[in-house]
Amino acid sequence: MVKIEGKSVFGGVAIGPIGILKKKEKKVVRSHVDQTEEEIKRYEKASKEAEDQLQALYEKALEEVGEANADIFHVHQLMLSDMDYVESITNMIRMQNVNAEYAIAMTSDNFSTLFEMMDDDYMRARAADVKDVSNRLIHILSGREDDPLQGDVPVILAADDLAPSETVQLDKSKILAFVTRYGSANSHTAILARTMNIPAIIGADFPEDCDGKTAVVDGETGCLYIEPAPEILHQMEEKQQEEQKKQEMLQTLKGKEDVTLGGKKINLYANVGNVSDVMIALKNDASGIGLFRSEFLYLEKDHYPTEEEQFQVYKTVAETMAGKKVIIRTLDIGADKQIGYFDMEPEENPAMGYRAIRICLDREDIFKTQLRALYRASAYGNIAIMYPMIISVEEVRKIKKISAQVRQQLSDAGISFGEVEEGIMIETPAAAIISDLLAEEVDFFSIGTNDLSQYTLAIDRQNPKLDTFFDPHHPAVLRLLQMVADNAHKAGIWVGICGELGADLSLTESFIRMGMDELSVSPAMVLPVRQKIRETNG
Ligand code: PEP
Ligand code: MG
Repeated sequence: MVKIEGKSVFGGVAIGPIGILKKKEKKVVRSHVDQTEEEIKRYEKASKEAEDQLQALYEKALEEVGEANADIFHVHQLMLSDMDYVESITNMIRMQNVNAEYAIAMTSDNFSTLFEMMDDDYMRARAADVKDVSNRLIHILSGREDDPLQGDVPVILAADDLAPSETVQLDKSKILAFVTRYGSANSHTAILARTMNIPAIIGADFPEDCDGKTAVVDGETGCLYIEPAPEILHQMEEKQQEEQKKQEMLQTLKGKEDVTLGGKKINLYANVGNVSDVMIALKNDASGIGLFRSEFLYLEKDHYPTEEEQFQVYKTVAETMAGKKVIIRTLDIGADKQIGYFDMEPEENPAMGYRAIRICLDREDIFKTQLRALYRASAYGNIAIMYPMIISVEEVRKIKKISAQVRQQLSDAGISFGEVEEGIMIETPAAAIISDLLAEEVDFFSIGTNDLSQYTLAIDRQNPKLDTFFDPHHPAVLRLLQMVADNAHKAGIWVGICGELGADLSLTESFIRMGMDELSVSPAMVLPVRQKIRETNG
């Protein structure tokens, strides 16, 4: 048995085989082949397999995110069988006696360059699709030792680190737990693990040869046991059963109100990143969605999501929540959430750089497309919109001007939309300090403690080395929370917390005393927080 100590991100026990995720980029090497017809058969077999994979992905996406979003996999299927594409590959194999991987990589480069040079936006966007389809083929051809989720058996997924864009693409039904060597407890990947409600540890330096070996992840202590000794296995199985019992007890809280012993009602909502998370939020009996991180919609795609694509997603969420509040945050990319097709320049300090509302105010086309989709979807449920990374009253006024224009355009076109509450995230010290002024401009505040803590304490949330310096209960942050709550109430608006701190059970009572009206937490934390609220005198 090998015991490796890491840091807990999310509790629970997982037992199963380890699957190491290696990075997707494969270096394609040119090699000489004599048997070109055999090589073409190899390519055709891979193409058939890619076709099957895409069909499976289409069906999964259809169920999870609707037809408009699933269609991309049909586009990829068409591309696979496109005559020009197929002929380019097979000709190259025959004429140049090269291996299939190389012929595909060259064809991919040539075709994507051609697409990128086209005037038409739609055709330009196809460049990314060609690359994607080609990478899929190359992966199949070069073996899939780098994709541990191909098999039927769920695995403990081990990786160096996971970017949010990688995490969203993983088949969650095949993951028992996450173990990473790097990454920080406050990163978006950690947040995703919590949303998925599976054990997760970071900073665990697992050996390369543990791939496929049986292991136990104890998410509570942050320990990974590879080939566990029988007594550890037994102990962990018992712990798993206890967890199970605790979960069963929590289930009895479903349908109960989020009211303190003193009769104060708290709106207990869930944080989600996509439509399937919404189902998890409902399963955990959240009374609403307090933070829909809309950027994951952009991260999952290889092109700017169209108004229609976004509308379908927001409408689905609004309808699924059936009149319960759904607070959708406008695009918050930049920093650790990078998207290739946005073509952003590297920055010295991305966390304090070109991100979130700054991009939206700079690139109004992207912003307006999202706002149109949001307002249109508001006709189908109780949608509220919230803006991230605000630092000034001027920004809020600019946003209000743009959103008024969007509403006017919709009205002029006879397109209906609902009453939409508009709020801002308080996640910069600047916003907290001028929250009295900002409160006059908006309908609500939602405090993003993840960023507010990072900027207040000058502690990069991505840097695991700083975890020991990070005090989530730092009085500076708690004082700002109190100040924001007071300023919100003075102006007669509601205030809540949607950062990870909102789920810190040791602070629930303090938050209620501060006057927080809402707490929005990862779906798995809804019932534990409900339990805490109901035990609080307040
Ligand atoms: C936050 O900063 O607290 C927040 C909720 O936003 P995100 O974690 O997505 O930056
Ligand atoms: Mg934030």
